[in-house]
Amino acid sequence: MSIILPKLPAAPVCLSEINSCPSSEQELIQTAAALHGTPLLLLDCDIIRRQYRALRQALPEAAAHFALKPLPHPAVVKTLLQEGANFDLATNGEVDLVQELGVPGEKTIHTHPIKRDSDILHALLYGCTVFVIDNLNELEKFIPYRHEAELLIRLSFRNADAYSDLSKKFGCSPEGAIELIQHAHRLGIYIKGLSFHVGSQTADPQKYVTAIHTCGEVFRRVTELGLPKLNTLDIGGGFPVHYIDQVLAIQEFCAPIREALAEFPESVDVISEPGRFIVAPAVISVASVMGQAERDGKTWYYLDDGVYGSFSGTIYDHAVYPVEAFCKEGEELYPSVLAGPTCDSIDVIAEDIMLPKLNNGDLVIGRMMGAYTAATASEFNFFPKAKIVVLNEPLDMMP
Ligand SMILES: *Cc1c(COP(=O)(O)O)cnc(C)c1O
Repeated sequence: MSIILPKLPAAPVCLSEINSCPSSEQELIQTAAALHGTPLLLLDCDIIRRQYRALRQALPEAAAHFALKPLPHPAVVKTLLQEGANFDLATNGEVDLVQELGVPGEKTIHTHPIKRDSDILHALLYGCTVFVIDNLNELEKFIPYRHEAELLIRLSFRNADAYSDLSKKFGCSPEGAIELIQHAHRLGIYIKGLSFHVGSQTADPQKYVTAIHTCGEVFRRVTELGLPKLNTLDIGGGFPVHYIDQVLAIQEFCAPIREALAEFPESVDVISEPGRFIVAPAVISVASVMGQAERDGKTWYYLDDGVYGSFSGTIYDHAVYPVEAFCKEGEELYPSVLAGPTCDSIDVIAEDIMLPKLNNGDLVIGRMMGAYTAATASEFNFFPKAKIVVLNEPLDMMP
């Protein structure tokens, strides 16, 4: 017996444009699920391009270094390399990935504030020479590499409102930074500038503005003290995307940041490290209903992907993803629960969601699934991770 699969649509379909072409998006998703099985993550490189260009346009003074951490996938790196992006690395695995794809070392910075000597050496051998530190112990690790490495000092700005406050674990105070710069000067280590991360999915651009002003004060203090001038300001990642709650459009979001950056002389290189903003909208998850039960007046649907898989960001990233099922015009909706496949009760994706009546095998779609999803998924209970299917992949530049 043979199964006849529908053909993939000939023209590339943009997943973001659901309203303009809902039927072709549905067809694409169903075709992909039939071809590859579920769970799936559909990664659309056209959206990666669109997001990168939108950020570059909104913040033209800051060269964007894509932070690999939220979605370290080769197709993302290839797409962004063709767009002219730079890269923000934090681990040996990330160094190896960009190296294999032919990213030149000088297009990268290494921003993990805590590294082993072997990590520093690994990055240097690749050709990455800019590193981040935030304490004396780390500074001293660079004594042997003072002729090759240049350092940024990371400042801490706490942010309780972000999805993930990245200043609890890392960063020093402005006074601490000045002490480190003085110490580095005595050791003959070159401090290039300052960096910070205001927290991932930061809704309020004023967090950047405050941090930029504080960095400006440190720049001036360093000059007053007669130390070598700082020439780089790294404003980190954190740029927000629209999950359930509306956020400012990127152009509007960046306007006050640009204004704050204007206080720095043109000789200062400004860079950013966007992660989530580039990849979050580029991925749609596709899961299937494995089974169902009525509990407390709601229908529970058990999917083949969940909190231990692609929806791991529900826990680690504190994210809530827009999820939906295909339904016909005017179809009745019922209070439903979407749960993952594992035997653990924490494995619930959505508790209060209105859905049409679903059959076993029906598809459930998650949107904005590109950042901190596949990257933190596990295979708990031996449920395999979702397969990533790449759409609109860049053509290889090398023969
Ligand atoms: C995670 C991380 C990023 C990316 O942050 P987003 O909020 O995803 O943009 C950038 N820089 C550093 C140092 C990070 O740890």
